[in-house]
Amino acid sequence: MKPAGFIMKVDRLGRVVIPKPIRNKYELNTDDALEVFIDDNGFFLKKYVKTCAFCGKDENLTDFKDKVVCEDCLKELKGL
Ligand SMILES: [Zn+2]
Repeated sequence: MKPAGFIMKVDRLGRVVIPKPIRNKYELNTDDALEVFIDDNGFFLKKYVKTCAFCGKDENLTDFKDKVVCEDCLKELKGL
């Protein structure tokens, strides 16, 4: 990771505003979800894209209990 050239302050409720150039570059829109990743050096945020828990596809998804499953994997599971 490298510095992006922005310094943001955390407000009293713990919120930060993601600078517009970053929102534009990563196509972040209102109500999009972000996923937090951490390591020993800190954390970073990444736009959260739902993917199938089994194959990683991001199309034709269904919520199944606490997992996300694609149509193809769901068919396969039903055949077990
Ligand atoms: Zn799948």
